[in-house]
Amino acid sequence: MSAITSNNIANSSGITDENISFSKTWCEKQVIKGFSSICYYGTLTYTTSRCSNCGFTSETVKIIKYGTKLSRITLTKSANLPTYLFLKKQRFYCEGCHTTLLSPHHLH
Ligand SMILES: [Zn+2]
Repeated sequence: MSAITSNNIANSSGITDENISFSKTWCEKQVIKGFSSICYYGTLTYTTSRCSNCGFTSETVKIIKYGTKLSRITLTKSANLPTYLFLKKQRFYCEGCHTTLLSPHHLH
């Protein structure tokens, strides 16, 4: 992993979330929807101390890690090729209200 290069990508793609880490093979060309595309792979990791559904903190209720969800984010074209970011998001489970929580991220 090259932190400097990943950061450059993160900045140039408008993604500045410091909780995103890029994996070893964080960039490669792939055919998506029939077009050769540039793909970045990142993981959004963070810890949560408060359930956004019931409002209790992890001191009161138990909030456990509950797998990940992969989402594809369309970025602005680079080198005239469609560009995507595949982002793995951490999911949490609140034992207080029995709901799952996703990383509070602004990108969809
Ligand atoms: Zn809850």
